[in-house]
Amino acid sequence: MDKGLVTNPKDLERMQQELVSLSRRIGELEDTELEVMEELETAQAEHARLTARLAEIDARAGALTQSRDAKAGETTAQVERATADRKVTASGVPADLLALYDRIRAQKGGVGAAVLRQRRCGGCSLELTAADLGSIAKAPADEVVRCEECQRILVRTAESGV
Ligand SMILES: [Zn+2]
Repeated sequence: MDKGLVTNPKDLERMQQELVSLSRRIGELEDTELEVMEELETAQAEHARLTARLAEIDARAGALTQSRDAKAGETTAQVERATADRKVTASGVPADLLALYDRIRAQKGGVGAAVLRQRRCGGCSLELTAADLGSIAKAPADEVVRCEECQRILVRTAESGV
């Protein structure tokens, strides 16, 4: 192989076969490269789609957090106002009646007194018997009357039906 020339026909044939083989291999690698590029494009599009979706979700989560915090603030303010109102109202109620009310309230899911409306207890919704209504009708206005069914303090009004 002087001056880079191939003189042996067998060597030439082997080199030609090698060239054909290498060309085939290059073709295969180019096909693979195209496939990988397509997969990359698909993955990049999916990544972009998911990134946009994530941004939407983040924005929604931010708005919901803001809304939740605002509502929690309103609720806290309402509870504070109600607590202050209750304190004012309770200060005008005799201590023994307040103690009775608090005891019933603790036993009856937070409702210690109920309005008597159209012969029904506003606490348990049951209609009072004629005998109970008779006793209530005879009771002085400042006497504490209670529902025989649920034991709540009954508040008499013009609509009580007694
Ligand atoms: Zn009742």
